[in-house]
Amino acid sequence: MARIRLDHIRHAYSPELAKANTYALREVDTAFEDGGAYALLGPSGCGKTTLLNIISGLLTPSEGHVRFDDRDVTMLSPEARNIAQVFQFPVIYDTMTVRQNLAFPLKNRKVPAAEIASRVEDMLRRIGLEAKADRKARGLTADEKQKISLGRGLVRSDVAAILFDEPLTVIDPHMKWQLRSELKQLHHEFAMTMVYVTHDQTEALTFADKVVVMFEGEVVQIGTPEELFERPQHTFVGYFIGSPGMNVLPCRLENGEAVVSGARIALPAVRSVPHEGQMTELGIRPEFVGIVPRGGGVPIAIDRVEDIGSERIVRARLDGMPLTAILKENAAIPAEADAAFAPHALNLYADSWLVERG
Ligand code: ATP
Repeated sequence: MARIRLDHIRHAYSPELAKANTYALREVDTAFEDGGAYALLGPSGCGKTTLLNIISGLLTPSEGHVRFDDRDVTMLSPEARNIAQVFQFPVIYDTMTVRQNLAFPLKNRKVPAAEIASRVEDMLRRIGLEAKADRKARGLTADEKQKISLGRGLVRSDVAAILFDEPLTVIDPHMKWQLRSELKQLHHEFAMTMVYVTHDQTEALTFADKVVVMFEGEVVQIGTPEELFERPQHTFVGYFIGSPGMNVLPCRLENGEAVVSGARIALPAVRSVPHEGQMTELGIRPEFVGIVPRGGGVPIAIDRVEDIGSERIVRARLDGMPLTAILKENAAIPAEADAAFAPHALNLYADSWLVERG
């Protein structure tokens, strides 16, 4: 397994697009540590697949370098990089049996027969296809074929990294959890470097040790699920991670305090406050917004309350701006209400980026 380093990567899909300054990747400068389980998370079109294909060698970047440990692999093919990649749709041999499909990548690498047999048996069990081991792939369901694809990627232990591009899209929802936990288990056992593309935050947060959040062709934050939740570096991360996402309220700064709709909110944790009078944004997760009787905080108007069993989600407006709060299932909600913000959970943003904190 290898440490993967992406040095100032930019990519445009054609010279014309580059000329028009339309880059699928605008500037990516980041590293994936050896043995780490990473998820690449972001909305459709943000550049996840482009980045994955640049790591695997299916695509050569317009600018920048890809390094595996200290080796520059930018111009090397996927085979020469020794990467396993699992795609959204199955890539298997229809005329081979399940067992032969799994053995194929190992035979190609001249692994001894006894080892192939034991690795294939182990993989058959992990993907739940022992009973169909000697069936031709052609007759299997899309779901089962994709499990073979996953198995073919995972059966090799000598690869520099394993890359997954939304591999569970065609898998039945109840099987997804099981396969995802198998991936985690394999990662745990063999400390493989894994990079997993998804636009589904639950999938990313349950699979990865570190989540790489992408937005408009850039990596906006790399962090543990806790870091992304507690300290989003960019308002997009706050909005994209969490359900519902972080509230972002425009505010003005005065004497080190944030003024939101006439109410003054102290910012004790912020070290370098931007210029006085500058318009900035205050970010606060709905989990840290309290709903209190009038006079106890910032006045709001409640639009509706959604009771979802374990929680009450309050949809309100603060001076016309949307504000969401998540309360306990039995929380009382006064008719005339104010919002109270937990001071430790306030994040201040300037030009969408988190302002440094003390
Ligand atoms: P999705 O989740 O929808 O697969 P993504 O985050 O993986 O999206 P990419 O597929 O990497 O995003 O696409 C990034 C940008 O590059 C998009 O604007 C897309 O339209 C563009 N793009 C992707 N492939 C090509 C191509 N072959 N030619 C031109 N533009 C492309």
